[in-house]
Amino acid sequence: MKLEYTDAPAAPPEPTTGDKMPCPYCGHLLPKDADRCDQCDWVRGASQIAEAKASDAVAVMFSLVPGLGHIYKGHILAGILWMIGAIPVGIFVLLAAFASAGWGLGLFVFYLAAAMLHAYGIDDRVVPPKEDEGEEY
Ligand SMILES: [Zn+2]
Repeated sequence: MKLEYTDAPAAPPEPTTGDKMPCPYCGHLLPKDADRCDQCDWVRGASQIAEAKASDAVAVMFSLVPGLGHIYKGHILAGILWMIGAIPVGIFVLLAAFASAGWGLGLFVFYLAAAMLHAYGIDDRVVPPKEDEGEEY
């Protein structure tokens, strides 16, 4: 095997052969499971995850405020319900926290975990909002 170094702009991406794949940015042939290019600054995560689809991980992060992850994914109504639900849960947890010198705060973690799991598993509705769903809520 010989490595070629040229200053010319990248040639059109070479056809994928077997366990190789061309770099999406420069066309340099990389191992198929490469997660970065050694010829340019392409990184796998950057070009694959952020495209048009809401990220489950981001939805989970937003769910630190229950409901925000759902809203992020386009489930406005579900998000609002989770937020409203957090209020009585929050009050209960605060009371429990006062009664138990702080330990009750841990209960809220369960609500957060539930909201995060739900936000993680829920279908992503961000992509095609259907016209006829607009005014029903
Ligand atoms: Zn490259």
